[in-house]
This record gives sequence, C-alpha cells and structure tokens, in this order.
Amino acid sequence: ELVDIHDYIERIVKKFSGLANEKNISIHVEVDEGLQQVYFDYDRIEQVLTNLLDNAIRHTEQNKQVFVNVVREEEDVQFSIHDQGIGIADEDLPFVFERFYKADKSRKRSEGGKSGTGLGLAIAKNIVEAHRGSISVHSKQGEGTTFLFKLPNDLES
Ligand code: ATP
Ligand code: MG
Repeated sequence: ELVDIHDYIERIVKKFSGLANEKNISIHVEVDEGLQQVYFDYDRIEQVLTNLLDNAIRHTEQNKQVFVNVVREEEDVQFSIHDQGIGIADEDLPFVFERFYKADKSRKRSEGGKSGTGLGLAIAKNIVEAHRGSISVHSKQGEGTTFLFKLPNDLES
C-alpha cells in the first residue's frame, strides 16, 4: 500500500486543528512538490508525527506558529516540526529522548491538567531508528524548538 505524502501529512495535521484553534496557533505545512510516494510504516510514523505535533502545540503560547516541513534529500525524506514555543533548556536537551523525562516538571502545567507520561519522544526515537533513520532536536529557551527526523526513502533507493 502506497500513500500520497501530501494527503497523509494533511490528515495528521488536521487532527490538531481543534487544539490549535483553541490557542489561535496556525500550523503551516510544506511538503516538497517533487515528493509523491514514500514508503515507510505509515501507522508508526503517524505516531511519531502525532507526538511531535502534540508537543509543539502544547508548549507554544497563543497566537504563535508551528511549521511542518517535509523535504526530499538525496536518499532520505526529512521531516521537521518547528514551534515558536517556550523552548527547552540546554541542560534538559540531552535527555529529552529518555523515557519518562519531562523537561518542564517543575513548571506548572496549565494545559487543562493534561500531563503526558514522558514516553512520546522515547517511542518516537525507537520508531525512527527502527526505520534506519535518525532524530535530533534544536532548541532555544524562549524562542522555540525544532525536531528533525530523517527516514531512508526505500522506494527510490
Ligand atoms: P507523552 O508524549 O508521553 O504524552 P510528554 O509529551 O511529556 O508525554 P515527550 O513527548 O517524551 O513526553 O516529551 C518529553 C519532554 O520534553 C516534555 O515533557 C517537555 O518537557 C519536553 N518537550 C518536548 N517537546 C517540546 C517542545 N516542542 N517544546 C518544549 N518542550 C518540549
Ligand atoms: Mg509528548
């Protein structure tokens, strides 16, 4: 089964329109035009994208923006989820992919009492690496966060 990447991303992002609307956050999606079909475990990668989007929106204040980009590289497909949110402190950054790690545990969580388990990024890393891909994070406190992951595009290699 092959999935059109544009439809696929669009459908996943739509799941967050309610949450984003509540905070007046706009989500900008850009998928490489030259990229049509990609081959990976669609359900598992949806789980990765879902967690990254959930994290991005939950850690971003009202009226800011979230960007989702999918670009084709040599032999990879590269996904990035960028937010203009609170960011992650340098001392927390090396640990965010560890199970149960929560960078903001000392902060008051104000998202309707909704507090995650701290497993999302550990699971995301596992899924990406099971695809022979890699995931990384760049962040600056008070400015925002970018999660990047790459998957080999087996269809074209
Ligand atoms: P779960 O995903 O299991 O529901 P969670 O979202 O707390 O729970 P992770 O997705 O693993 O767990 O994220 C770990 C921690 O990293 C978060 O608790 C948060 O402190 C920090 N974090 C993750 N993404 C962002 C982001 N985009 N901006 C700021 N902090 C983030
Ligand atoms: Mg999460």
